[in-house]
Amino acid sequence: MNHDKASPAAKIASPPQSPQPVARDLYQALDGDAGRYALVAGHCSGCGRHFYPLPGRCSSCHGPLTRALFGERGSIYSFTVVRTRAPFGLPEPYAVGYVDAEDLGLRVFGLLDPGCIDRLSVGAPVRLDVLPLGGDAEGRPCLRPVFTLCRQSGKGGEQ
Ligand SMILES: [Zn+2]
Repeated sequence: MNHDKASPAAKIASPPQSPQPVARDLYQALDGDAGRYALVAGHCSGCGRHFYPLPGRCSSCHGPLTRALFGERGSIYSFTVVRTRAPFGLPEPYAVGYVDAEDLGLRVFGLLDPGCIDRLSVGAPVRLDVLPLGGDAEGRPCLRPVFTLCRQSGKGGEQ
């Protein structure tokens, strides 16, 4: 007995959409495709300030900005785990927090790796990663920058 439940038309799937960055100029891959990322800030040569996310002009002196990569590593300043219904198809629960970037001294707000929620702590070292997480306003899959805990081995681990 050969009985297909689905009609032939139902088997034609639209091509899978590969996740796209959730916004332009939020982050950038480092060293090609080696899995290292940095955030994209703006640097004002007029007053020396940095801004993230990258605005059009310096909000202090209104001078032009150049791109400045930062935030590959940092430490958690504060965080919270959100257990209400997640927006944009984010996993439930999810975590957000402030991370102090170790290079530019900027404190940035962002997503923390949902796979690390049970191990988050203030002061913990983190590194930037980019994960397929949730979708955009139209439900298309998105790549989002997240901070994930640095692996800590018993032999001293990463610095
Ligand atoms: Zn400025």
